[in-house]
Amino acid sequence: MTTFKTVWEGIKPEEESELKSVSDGYLGFLDNAKTESEAVEFFMKELDERGFSDLETVAKLEPGSRFYLNHIGRALAAGIVGKRSTVNGLYIIASHIDSPRLDLKPKPIYEDSDTNTSLLKTNYYGGVKKYQWVNHPLALHGKIYTKDGRSIKLRLGEDESDPIFLIPDLLPHLAKMQADRKLFDGISAEELNPIFGSIPDDSKEDRFKSHVLKILKDRYGIEEEDLASADLCLVPAGKARESGIDSSMIAGYGHDDKASAYTSFRAFLDVKEPEDTILVLYFDKEEIGSQGTTGSQSNFLEYVASLILHKLNGGYEHIDLTSLLRRSKVISSDVNAAMDPSFKGAHDPNNAGRLGSGIIVTKYTGHGGKYGGSEAPAEFVAYLRGIFQKYNVRYQFGTLGKVDEGGGGTVAQDFARFGMNVIDAGAPVLGMHAPFEIVSKADLWSCYRAYLAFMNH
Ligand code: MN
Ligand code: MN
Repeated sequence: MTTFKTVWEGIKPEEESELKSVSDGYLGFLDNAKTESEAVEFFMKELDERGFSDLETVAKLEPGSRFYLNHIGRALAAGIVGKRSTVNGLYIIASHIDSPRLDLKPKPIYEDSDTNTSLLKTNYYGGVKKYQWVNHPLALHGKIYTKDGRSIKLRLGEDESDPIFLIPDLLPHLAKMQADRKLFDGISAEELNPIFGSIPDDSKEDRFKSHVLKILKDRYGIEEEDLASADLCLVPAGKARESGIDSSMIAGYGHDDKASAYTSFRAFLDVKEPEDTILVLYFDKEEIGSQGTTGSQSNFLEYVASLILHKLNGGYEHIDLTSLLRRSKVISSDVNAAMDPSFKGAHDPNNAGRLGSGIIVTKYTGHGGKYGGSEAPAEFVAYLRGIFQKYNVRYQFGTLGKVDEGGGGTVAQDFARFGMNVIDAGAPVLGMHAPFEIVSKADLWSCYRAYLAFMNH
């Protein structure tokens, strides 16, 4: 047995009250920001209340200016111009605000007259263990856009009085046909079909489908085809909860990567007058490879950086932009795995993050021989250690599992390609990508302190 120091040991009373304030705020965020659009709405409200200006329309930037850029409600940047302007580059914290879930297909509704039901066809989003998503209460979130320009926001299944949606698994009494399947194939993608309704409209041919279409028409004024111009998904219904007899943890949906997004945003709002220009970035699409107009592979960062230069200096040369990006520094704030107490064999005990031991600094990601990942230069790791020690941040080093056990990536590589220093650091999570994941309140607080230290450096 090895003993790892936890954040809880030697925590001071004022630190404990800050920890409680961060975890209480986080619970509220989780319940209101289950999708990327809801996270952007949450952040935008806070930015508006604090008088941040739209980077695209603000006439001029100067030290102390506070700005944001909202990209179609799914990706967001917020920044404060530092006293030293952009001399030392930008100090960036980037995380993703999408989480694994079940998206609806463009033509989702079908009926199964054999079973007196209408159902929804789904397309899982991100790396899920599909069998975890059955028999779990699901809520329908998203927006529908009609061709006459209306948008209808849905958030059905979160209020006590709302119906929830459920994908029933086969009863154990009759599950012989599943017995020979491998665990990961226990439920297949095309079996992830939640039941949508079960009352027939006897005047129509498709009795069960017609009835749910009539409800959609009466309640929301939408036609079946409107569901094709919609971003609709099923997410775990209900609120995040404190967990453990000591309430030391939070169990909830989407710690990956809302834990990083919330703590970095909160730290950002708590930076008063930064020396250098700070920027927090929130991306969508990370769980499906970061492609797309709101993913980190898009030119969002370049656009934000060029607007910053333009509004600071009234114009700029291309070399100014590439040089600014090159001298910037980034924490790619994303969660890592905490060592699983029942599956310790998946981890290298010397290099696994532990629940409660603080933010995990992850020097490199990837799988196999570091393949497809991003690695921070040792000098930058040393630089970060210096900052964390200066601000008494509790941190640990970790990698994601045994070398040939699997692996993963983050948004880090999309920053590295500009030649800037970037490193991954985020909270340890148990049960990552499951409908309900676990994070320690101590680690959330450690992330908040780490991101605050980086922006204040
Ligand atoms: Mn992540
Ligand atoms: Mn993930």
